[in-house]
Amino acid sequence: MTESKGSWRVATAEAEHATVAVIGAGVMGAGIAQVAAQAGHPVQLMDLREGAAAAAIAQIGKALDGLVTKGRMEAAEREAVMGRLAPAAATAELKDAALVIEVIVEKLEPKQALLRELDALLPPDALIASNTSSISITALANGMTTPRRLVGMHFFNPVPLMKLVEVVCGAETAPSAASAVEQLSRRWGKTPVRAKSTPGFIVNRIARPYYAETLALLQEQAGSHAQLDRALRSAGFRMGPCELMDLIGHDTNYLVTQSVFEANFGDKRYQPSLVQKALVDGGRLGRKSGKGFYNGIPAVTPPVAPVDEDVGAVTLAGQGVLVERLGDWMMTRGVAFERDPAADWQGVAMEGLQLHLTLGRCAAQLAHERHQPGLAVIDWPLSPDRIDGLAIAFAPRVDAESRARAEALLRHFGWEPLVLRDVPGLAVARTIAMLVNEGADAVWQGVCDEAGADTAMKLGVNYPAGPFEWLALLGATRVVDVLDGLFDAYRSERYRVSPLLRQRLWA
Ligand code: NAD
Repeated sequence: MTESKGSWRVATAEAEHATVAVIGAGVMGAGIAQVAAQAGHPVQLMDLREGAAAAAIAQIGKALDGLVTKGRMEAAEREAVMGRLAPAAATAELKDAALVIEVIVEKLEPKQALLRELDALLPPDALIASNTSSISITALANGMTTPRRLVGMHFFNPVPLMKLVEVVCGAETAPSAASAVEQLSRRWGKTPVRAKSTPGFIVNRIARPYYAETLALLQEQAGSHAQLDRALRSAGFRMGPCELMDLIGHDTNYLVTQSVFEANFGDKRYQPSLVQKALVDGGRLGRKSGKGFYNGIPAVTPPVAPVDEDVGAVTLAGQGVLVERLGDWMMTRGVAFERDPAADWQGVAMEGLQLHLTLGRCAAQLAHERHQPGLAVIDWPLSPDRIDGLAIAFAPRVDAESRARAEALLRHFGWEPLVLRDVPGLAVARTIAMLVNEGADAVWQGVCDEAGADTAMKLGVNYPAGPFEWLALLGATRVVDVLDGLFDAYRSERYRVSPLLRQRLWA
């Protein structure tokens, strides 16, 4: 089918003043209505529940009052925005809208019924969007006479603050319809990223390992939730996985995981966790129920006071980005050290003990294979100056005195030693490698492009970097080594390497 660019009313020069209708006046619908009205559109807001639309508009008024009080909006602007918002009592009243955004309950049948009704009501140059976070746009379009005008427009909560919009194309979505929604999102101050309609789209798919790897580590009794949170915060994430799941709510997080797992026909990569199921079953839903991993909001751990004690001779072994970061940090901290760039491993050597930067093999295996009983693995010091705790695991025959010296060295660096059970890939390396792998598979399968994956993860869930930025920093060899290490250890398809990463190796 040929596409003419200006065939949609929202793509024309007058689009700024075109009416936008939002159906569903819940958390997301209210946010979307506010953003559209602030961008200058007359906005109609409709909800099945009587009075819900008017209540949402009143709520928006309060939010705008807050902006006026803080000096971020003029009082006259507030009045103008409020003047553009109007409740609608029935779908028939929305017939003149240039764009209708469906933001109702996350269930296929009611959404399909509503979309079919809208399709019959609206003129051919009006677009229809769905804010679904997990339902296939292709499935939603089933039964519409003009499925080409349905686009996924996936906003993030809270809508007025979060910049990302995933613009999702179903099998029949017209490219011009997706482009029009992209342009419109930009005019609304958002950053659109194009995604193909596949389970979890971009963000909810690529983010799965952030939760899943920590839940797997907890199931293996690798460490405590507080230790794992501390390790990942040290890698630059704003919140550790456990505190974040507590915030999201375990019921919600578990449902999203289940939905992605089922939509992928039970692919082990996305398998939900028994640890999380137990939390949900026990009503420990996180902050909303007052208890989850933590009872309420976890206390902030005080920063580690660097310990100045004699740690003996230290040698920096091997080469590579993480070795360089360690070396720079040791210099910053005034730790004297020798270099051994020709070593066949990477990390720090102390008397009788090697601390290997993890490559996905556990300390016991390395100690055995290298005939080096004095061996520990340490996690990736991605941003040494921000590290609050670094994971470390010892091979079985390391004595108490050597353990204490290794822990003293980390404290000397200003890092709390997070002593974990000897699991492959520790916490940060394993999580980052799996996030990169998921991003790589998303691109390999045409869900999004590399820049889109990076933008989506940084803007949708505030990651410190995107999967392809980590890949560029760490190199495919290191990431694949960790994934292969995990695969060998667990013999689980969950850790299969994305073909895209293998190709990067050979390239
Ligand atoms: P919500 O429960 O707060 O609001 C949904 C509203 O839709 C309710 O007010 C309900 O009365 C109304 N509704 C239900 N069926 C309707 C119908 N047939 N016609 C008109 N109104 C109807 O839910 P929410 O969190 O705002 O989520 C809405 C949609 O946005 C879902 O598809 C959800 O997956 C998606 N989403 C939610 C989030 C989030 O963080 N909450 C983020 C992104 C996307």
